[in-house]
Amino acid sequence: MNNQLAYEETFDCVQCGYCLPACPTYTTMGKERHSPRGRINLVQMASEGKISIQEIEDSMELCLGCRACETACPTNVQYGKILSSYKEVKMEQEGSSLINRLAMKKGLANKSMLNTMNLSLRFYQQSGIEKLGKVTKGIQVLPENLRAFEAIIPNITKPDKELRKGTLIPDTETKLKVAFFTGCIMDVFFAKINDLSIKLLQHAGCEVTVIKNQTCCGALQHHEGDSETTKQLAKENIVAFEKEHYDYIVNSIGGCGAMLVEYDQLLQSEPEWVERAKGFAEKSKDISVILAELDIEFTKKVEKRITYQPSCHLSNVQKVKKSPLELIYRIPGTTYIPLPEMDMCCGSAGTYNVFHYQESMEILDEKMSYVKETIPEVIVTSNPGCHLQMCMGVKREGLESKVEVVHIVEILAEACGLKN
Ligand code: SF4
Ligand code: SF4
Repeated sequence: MNNQLAYEETFDCVQCGYCLPACPTYTTMGKERHSPRGRINLVQMASEGKISIQEIEDSMELCLGCRACETACPTNVQYGKILSSYKEVKMEQEGSSLINRLAMKKGLANKSMLNTMNLSLRFYQQSGIEKLGKVTKGIQVLPENLRAFEAIIPNITKPDKELRKGTLIPDTETKLKVAFFTGCIMDVFFAKINDLSIKLLQHAGCEVTVIKNQTCCGALQHHEGDSETTKQLAKENIVAFEKEHYDYIVNSIGGCGAMLVEYDQLLQSEPEWVERAKGFAEKSKDISVILAELDIEFTKKVEKRITYQPSCHLSNVQKVKKSPLELIYRIPGTTYIPLPEMDMCCGSAGTYNVFHYQESMEILDEKMSYVKETIPEVIVTSNPGCHLQMCMGVKREGLESKVEVVHIVEILAEACGLKN
């Protein structure tokens, strides 16, 4: 393979700087090389051989990939493509990282490994080991970033098998026939959110099938620059979801959904796949879009002050902005308070908050300064990474007793009387 930097695309940038205020790394780091425009210039220079890939690494690696710059850009610069091309070239030159080889290439696409991960985490939480680690301070041996994550691991539940076998029929007339995409990490850490999503779809009038042979979407591998594994996973998913006709392929994961809707771009150089990938991408929808379209009926009041922190990949890549808000507005009894600068990334960005912990925390602290201005009782999220990051923000600010972080399906399920 001979990957190339997206040189032509860099000329779409007219250097206007409109993207600068939208970029979280420029806002917090204050340097041109940490801005979208700066990064585009660096990729252009590297393409022309004026500088090496290694010389642009610090700037490119600190990019969150949130793609807020694309939304702000008046000339439609394809920043995502430029960033991916850098990641691919870097991987080709420097080889795959250990984390990619172990976790992303093998782990995330392996069902039994994911089940084992879910089981181990439940054992860790339920056996008393977690408590013991905290009481004895054994947890202190972990580095700061891992300690911070350990502190916000959600209550891990077992995926509900009954919801995942066969096809669920709605109680009322069938309005849509949908296939549900569970994701890999989502079903390990947030199986209960997938369970509630399936119930909500059924409640809204969908016939729901959880496709058996589905696999990881490939988003994390794509962010690493491993296009070979990403394409392989995309093809496996296309084959798995093509077996029967479905109106939509639905997911509750902003980040994975963004990968699914770009399968056609990913496979554009493979003529035998591109049409099939396009069909898959066009059918892939975030759950909020489907529930808003079906005008889901709420039966219970949720008398809470709610704010919403959108997932960047849901807003900037999937372009889903209105549906989550429409649903939140419609929940009876709810008071919605807009979060200032809500479109600014929270600093989660896949594995960014693990590998660039300090930078991620600076971005999160900025986000939390707006949360403190609005004082909500609930922060609604739409992606597991953002969810954990906002939990971390709440913890850092000592707001655990005042502010709850939930995925949007949790609050919708509560308003539909589906949540225990
Ligand atoms: S993707 Fe996000 S962090 Fe990266 S340059 Fe664009 S706005 Fe900045
Ligand atoms: S807004 Fe677009 S054209 Fe303007 S500097 Fe940013 S990337 Fe370049």
